Amino acid sequence: MILTDIAETVSRGVGDMGASVTGVFQAPAIRLGVTGLSRAGKTVFITSLVANLIDRGRMPQLRAAATGAIKAAYLQPQPDDTVPRFDFERHLAAMTGTEPRWPDSTRAVSELRLSLRVQPGGLLGSFSGPRTVHLDIVDYPGEWLLDLALLDQSYDSWSQAALAAMRTRPQGQQAAALIAAADPAEPLSETRAQALAESFTHYLREAREAGFSDCSPGRFLLPGEMEGSPALTFAPLPPVDRAPRGSLRREMERRFEAYKSQIVKPFFRDHFSRIDRQVVLVDALGAIHSGPQAVADLRGAMAGILGAFRPGRNSWLSSILGRRIEKILFAATKADHLHHSQHARLTAIMEALVKDARSRADFAGAQTAAMSIAALRATVEETMTHQGRSLDCVRGTLLDSGRRAAFHPGDLPDDPARLLAPASEGRTEWLDEDYEIMRFAPAPLTLRPGEGPPHIRLDRAAEFLLGDKLT
Ligand code: GDP
Repeated sequence: MILTDIAETVSRGVGDMGASVTGVFQAPAIRLGVTGLSRAGKTVFITSLVANLIDRGRMPQLRAAATGAIKAAYLQPQPDDTVPRFDFERHLAAMTGTEPRWPDSTRAVSELRLSLRVQPGGLLGSFSGPRTVHLDIVDYPGEWLLDLALLDQSYDSWSQAALAAMRTRPQGQQAAALIAAADPAEPLSETRAQALAESFTHYLREAREAGFSDCSPGRFLLPGEMEGSPALTFAPLPPVDRAPRGSLRREMERRFEAYKSQIVKPFFRDHFSRIDRQVVLVDALGAIHSGPQAVADLRGAMAGILGAFRPGRNSWLSSILGRRIEKILFAATKADHLHHSQHARLTAIMEALVKDARSRADFAGAQTAAMSIAALRATVEETMTHQGRSLDCVRGTLLDSGRRAAFHPGDLPDDPARLLAPASEGRTEWLDEDYEIMRFAPAPLTLRPGEGPPHIRLDRAAEFLLGDKLT
């Protein structure tokens, strides 16, 4: 163990001790991490979950809501003063206004505290009276979890892998050419470093747009407050025998190491290590629509993300983890793009995507589950007859044209291997089906008193993640 690690472990230990001593006098708090790659649905999920916990009329599968054990739920100041607050009110207003729109997506870490007043049932409950449970929701980009893998890599090994990925992706050709033209041994020029970093970032962004999931380093896409800082102004370079002091290569390496120690490690230490329960949101339908390569890439990215939940693999992470994550939910989002007759298939695909990582260590004893959900239901179901065949469709307002349309995205296979196999065989097109995805606008809502926004299985997700703490 290196010295800085010892210092980090000790400082965390002291912090924890303080928390547990004062904790005796405080209401229990559950720290729920919400993550997923960009556009997986984190912002919509948190907004709808909180709204549906405040107004619980649509939460029958959350037992404590159905039995009336939750007496009230209200927002409170969050415990961490230096973390941006999740902008719940603005996001909810966007989703439920007279002209509803999707809220702005997650760009960095944020937090929100919802406190629940709970009256447990049974004999014990009638003696003990109501108690308060704080739910601290921490929203953070899944891209930042992928950075964990960087901690085990040197600048050279990372560069080699990054350049290899770049060359295989059409979006990487320009950046690859620019890097190939650079001389790693030349004296550092800031203009050159910036041009390389810009081109590299541009490629990562384009690759992400094209459906590739693993586009790390995570802060290049979602820099948060770090935008423009030297720790984000580097790019991979091919290995060289000798790179003199003050050369481009040496400075790139130094910045790469600064990225690891000053950006990646603090995130894991200050945020990730304090999470009790976790939901990992996955836009599996989006990847399926983008094709076999995107699915293969999503699978790889999931393995990377899940690596963070099996800390045994990373000794630095094990050393700073204060507590164990107790439950992890893997949720395929936007299930309202599919008729419910296909939801079980989507769940099976979600399970298959995380199966390898899940079976290996089962996340150090964490309880895990997979589900298909829609945090905000934007469609209604409809069965139509098309060319003599009955088709299960969903109907909604298309985001681009504002037109209402019924839509059948294609039949997902019963066996997830039919999707995963072509992906691992390197195919670029699906053979037997086309999977289309439309973007629907959120539907105008007329909510009755006590009702939150419409969703699919958000109550089951909440029961899995929180149910045991609310009875
Ligand atoms: P984030 O980047 O993970 O915060 O993703 P967002 O929560 O901003 O969601 C990204 C986009 O996915 C939204 O703008 C919507 O277009 C879509 N989306 C998210 N959740 C749902 C859902 O439950 N149903 C539908 N139809 N679309 C959704």
